[in-house]
Amino acid sequence: MLKPQIVHFLLGGAEFEEDEEYLQFQFRFLYILMLNGLVFNSAFLLSDGVGLVRLGSAHLIMTQAYSLISLLLMVLVWGRKNRFTWVAWSYVVLNFLQFVSALLFVTADEMRVVWFFLQISGVYILLGAWPGMFNTLATILAIHTVNPNLQSPLSTHALATLTLSLGAAGVVFHVYSSRSVSFHRRMVESNVQLRKLSTEDPLTGLLNARAYYALVDKLIRLASRNDTSFAVLFIDLDHFKSINDRYGHEAGDRVLKETAACLARLLRHSDALGRIGGEEFSIFLSNITQEEALRFAEKVRGDIEQRMPRIEETPLRITASIGVAMSQSEPRTFAEIQGEADQAMYRAKAAGRNRVTLFDGKSQAASRTD
Ligand code: GH3
Ligand code: MG
Ligand code: MG
Repeated sequence: MLKPQIVHFLLGGAEFEEDEEYLQFQFRFLYILMLNGLVFNSAFLLSDGVGLVRLGSAHLIMTQAYSLISLLLMVLVWGRKNRFTWVAWSYVVLNFLQFVSALLFVTADEMRVVWFFLQISGVYILLGAWPGMFNTLATILAIHTVNPNLQSPLSTHALATLTLSLGAAGVVFHVYSSRSVSFHRRMVESNVQLRKLSTEDPLTGLLNARAYYALVDKLIRLASRNDTSFAVLFIDLDHFKSINDRYGHEAGDRVLKETAACLARLLRHSDALGRIGGEEFSIFLSNITQEEALRFAEKVRGDIEQRMPRIEETPLRITASIGVAMSQSEPRTFAEIQGEADQAMYRAKAAGRNRVTLFDGKSQAASRTD
């Protein structure tokens, strides 16, 4: 139990959607960098305190400020992915100043320019290809500006090597970063497209049967957690085959599309709607009483009847038979409840179509013995 909590903490405590994979990676990368920077700089402060290293008074103040500001940034971005960009920029600038300060003041360390290399790949990952390039150029410019003020300046030769290697690292990361980001973007887009294809009914744009059942499964679990009742409507268009036979398949398709749009308009935010067969739709109504569900079903029936889609300039009267089943106090599978709505729908057909019928166990048993 503790382990996931620690991981959650180390990764900055934010939650991400499926299509925010890259932002999630960047956010966690930033958080780990900040933790890392904080630990390193605290270690420097400690070492200076016990006399292991000599930071000098100016860099000591800078390191203290760095540690405080990183801590503040970590707190500010904790769990807040919408703050990522400005926190990442602030952190990059903070690091940059820290490296410049080290270059100016930690005179005992001859290798201190190496710190700048640390930042190059990080900026490309955190902020992208152009901020990465900007950071590379700013680094080169800063080193050249600061160099004459150093206690022992770098030789012209060393400066040239440094400029070339920083520039080369910047170019390599620039190419890599722009390629990998555009590749990632294409992957996300094709994933979204695939998900759409696998969950959407292409004719009506509603959820297909598989996606609808998956969603309803979740809604049922939610309803049982909250102890609320729900209803399932099974809607089957009447004599639909005769529309195809008389006006052609394309006209039939148009009727299906219009019916789907009509149903979608009636839906509340917490409900679900799917096309589960050729001319069959199912609606899941969350948190609803039997009276409200029957009233809703009656409204659906009336709206479909009044819609009168125009086929070959003639308004066509379309009707539907609707079966309604309610959740019971004991938990059941969706297949059982949908089966009851199905049975109720067949009773509506048998009773003359264009009507709403509620499943009730007793009359169902009676009708089967008829
Ligand atoms: P009932 O009132 O008893 O439900 O009669 P019905 O004609 O609606 O029922 P039946 O199950 O006999 O016919 C359903 C028809 O729906 C048959 C099939 O050709 C048609 N259908 C199924 N899917 C599509 C589709 O995507 N487009 C079109 N145009 N027709 C479809
Ligand atoms: Mg049918
Ligand atoms: Mg039908």
